[in-house]
Amino acid sequence: MAQEMRSPIESGCPDAFQYMHPVMRRNYGQWAYHEDPRPGVLVHVAHSGEKIWTVRAGTQRILDIFTLRELCDIGDKFGDGYVHFTIRSNIEYLVADEAKVEPLIKALEDAGYVVGGTRNSVTMISHTQGWLHCDIPGTDASGVVKSMMDELIDEFKGWNMPNRVHMTTSCCQINCGGQGDIAINVQHTKPPKINHDLVANVCERPSVVARCPVAAIRPALVNGKPSLEVDEKKCICCGACYPPCPPMQINDAEHSKLAIWVGGNHSNARGKPTFQKLVASGIPNNPPRWPEATAVVKGILKAYKENAKDWERMNDWIERIGWPRFFEVTGLPFTKYHIDNWRGARASLNASTHIRF
Ligand code: SF4
Ligand code: SF4
Repeated sequence: MAQEMRSPIESGCPDAFQYMHPVMRRNYGQWAYHEDPRPGVLVHVAHSGEKIWTVRAGTQRILDIFTLRELCDIGDKFGDGYVHFTIRSNIEYLVADEAKVEPLIKALEDAGYVVGGTRNSVTMISHTQGWLHCDIPGTDASGVVKSMMDELIDEFKGWNMPNRVHMTTSCCQINCGGQGDIAINVQHTKPPKINHDLVANVCERPSVVARCPVAAIRPALVNGKPSLEVDEKKCICCGACYPPCPPMQINDAEHSKLAIWVGGNHSNARGKPTFQKLVASGIPNNPPRWPEATAVVKGILKAYKENAKDWERMNDWIERIGWPRFFEVTGLPFTKYHIDNWRGARASLNASTHIRF
């Protein structure tokens, strides 16, 4: 008899409880406090008195099957066989016995992994993985992450910063990328180039026209075929038209650059959200090691480390010293590209010589 087919699961990810460490399952929602015994290690103490240690290791972000097996084998041999991944691509091992922590760290370090990323360290850079699955990437964000973190390894492993530093990257200019103390985002600098022969076959023209945030796209007849045209004076080079219409190619080895934004922070119990601001633009998108972008990020981190007071996040520090001073201490040039003169942004129009962010 044919085997009965498994019915599809339509409701997202499986129940996480079955994969949780038993100490976590028993004390779910019942934690009294946590401490940081050393970089990369947390201990959570439950009201019941039970404790659980978490050991966090950074990864190279794109994980192949061999690396995953190696990481899991380390967890089986030196931990309790329970792991989870953070949104920043760190792997965390959960153990109920303090005696297992040091041997686990040694096994990870012997295998070439770095333990850290907690408290006032530079955490792993978060990003999505458009290069592999999305339809709009302008750069390989994971490559940027790997090259930068290679150079920031000591800041990941130690507690050297005034407060934690969250960094983000994005592979396109419009969607993910998030709010980070430092964000490294792709920056298109020219309007899309249209392959008119393909538009009629590939694109739903009304959706493409509707997609443009500044109404720069119009339907047009080109060589007798239905196509599109872009008003280049209006275009803000955002790249939003490229996903619904790949013939509107905007990626370009020379003109797709990187930009760096700083000071973003989500709201928390003590403060409102702050929005990141552009501090460096037109940085070459230069694989495989992105040295120019890394140099800018390292310069910002050095200035923050040397000048901020304990507990100040990047945005708190800049708020205290002011943006003109930020440009002085980081040595970044303040250019006309930092002035928001987009006609649509009347509410935040900063076109005068009086710098106001
Ligand atoms: S940043 Fe953009 S390209 Fe990358 S995954 Fe997100 S939406 Fe896709
Ligand atoms: S790049 Fe952005 S602004 Fe320019 S035409 Fe496309 S959607 Fe419009």
